Amino acid sequence: MYLDNSATTQVSEEVFEEMKPYFTEEFGNPSTLYKYGRESKKALDQARQRVADAINAKPEEIIFTSGGSESDNLAIKGIALKLAKKGKHIITTEIEHPAVTETLHFLESLDFKVTYLPVYENGIIKIEDLKEAITDETILITVMHANNEIGTVQPIEEIGKIAKEHGIKFHTDAVQSFGKIEVDVEKLNVDLLSLSSHKLNGPKGVGAIYIRKGTRLVPLIHGGGQERGIRAGTENVPGIVGFGKACELASQQLEEHYEKLSSIRDELIEKVLSTVPESYVNGDKEHRLPNLVNFRFKAIEGESLILLLDAKGYQASTGSACSSNKLEASPVLTALGLDPVDVHGSLRISLAPESDTFDIDEFVGIIAESVARLREMSPLWNQEIDYDGVMCSKHGDDCRMC
Ligand SMILES: *Cc1c(COP(=O)(O)O)cnc(C)c1O
Repeated sequence: MYLDNSATTQVSEEVFEEMKPYFTEEFGNPSTLYKYGRESKKALDQARQRVADAINAKPEEIIFTSGGSESDNLAIKGIALKLAKKGKHIITTEIEHPAVTETLHFLESLDFKVTYLPVYENGIIKIEDLKEAITDETILITVMHANNEIGTVQPIEEIGKIAKEHGIKFHTDAVQSFGKIEVDVEKLNVDLLSLSSHKLNGPKGVGAIYIRKGTRLVPLIHGGGQERGIRAGTENVPGIVGFGKACELASQQLEEHYEKLSSIRDELIEKVLSTVPESYVNGDKEHRLPNLVNFRFKAIEGESLILLLDAKGYQASTGSACSSNKLEASPVLTALGLDPVDVHGSLRISLAPESDTFDIDEFVGIIAESVARLREMSPLWNQEIDYDGVMCSKHGDDCRMC
């Protein structure tokens, strides 16, 4: 049973069927004038319309990219380089995806200043903190719509209003929220928004950035002038076609999926919390995605739990796919102010609409059994030991686990 849909999803049959001809018969370059090219161009136009419709944008505001990471890079570097003369201050949060955080670290090396807003125990920023952080130098605010590890949803509408009042550009990474909750660029008051195809049953290596009409930015990839000169390179036609179809399907089924996913999630939470002693849910209980839950179990290592669950046929993760093989404390969970020991005891379950085929009782039983087994071996569970100040090469200086 695959329960790691926030890491990636399976391409749906309908999406795959739609893509197939563009690998073989319909192979034309969309920039050429003869029939093959025109057919590919038509397919691109249709996909662009579908993506635009899914987020209430205009087709000319959609630029195709290689995925969420590129869209985040383009939004942030593109605006920063365009507006550097106006100011060099950017505001973000402590829990952004590495595609945002690492891009900002790069800009810091070019003398940009970045303010990282705290998120508190519930994983959500405070609007007051944002207002206080704004200066005359602020050119960009980038705050993710929904978090990929804990599923919390930020008050994007409100942030957008404040950004607008101050004439500051506003970007949001909507990779996780898109297809799970409503993403409407008008309601959200955003200037730039990142999307990725493979998180919503589309193919990998394709995504888009929404750029509000009139918003100017510097391209990252220069070349043949494709995508209105904002993103050069011959378009990934089959990928874009698949992404367009995935967007269409996701919007048509948004409400139905929301109901279905949130009811599975709620049942799962209720059963885990009542079956496993000392278990908790990380992040806000109300403002969150329907398909994702991040549990915390006292005195165990998430990585060990993942392996036990895998052995029983359940694929889940401790947090983000990007950090799961590094064994570092999750910066997102750390930002919630959790004890460093507790940060390592997390389990992220992310559902897909097809997840209703799994037996929740059986799964919860396996979690309970595995957690109990790990606790039997855990000194933290069995003894009252003061681990303060104990150093560890695996988890860093503040580890009190090993
Ligand atoms: C997966 C993810 C990305 C990166 O998208 P790719 O298409 O894999 O590059 C960016 N932001 C968030 C929130 C994500 O979950």
